[in-house]
Amino acid sequence: METYKLKNCHFRVSDADKYCTTIYPDGTQAPAIPMASQLEFAKELGYNNAWDMVKFHELIHTILCEEKGEPHSRVLWNIAHGKEEDDHWKEEEQVLLCQRVINRLIELGFLSQQNG
Ligand SMILES: [Zn+2]
Repeated sequence: METYKLKNCHFRVSDADKYCTTIYPDGTQAPAIPMASQLEFAKELGYNNAWDMVKFHELIHTILCEEKGEPHSRVLWNIAHGKEEDDHWKEEEQVLLCQRVINRLIELGFLSQQNG
């Protein structure tokens, strides 16, 4: 289990357990695990398995929003706090686009892949 300090939250990840969670200062969490049904979509995004897709997806949610100057991912914050919003697809779309771009860079040899 590794814990990473981001700007306004922590990201805890266990490759052994295939489990990750975003932890906010108030103690709430947005956990995520891979599901077998996600394998096809993971491959479409450029991953070999669903776990890598889920792990990076969750992390990119927070990094993307922090880099845009927002305090946190609205999507993950809402999950952690039991809320739902209609426009969550906008953030999802941006996260998925980041994942595609990163995997293309890896595929082209510009980035080396740490896992998988
Ligand atoms: Zn998402």
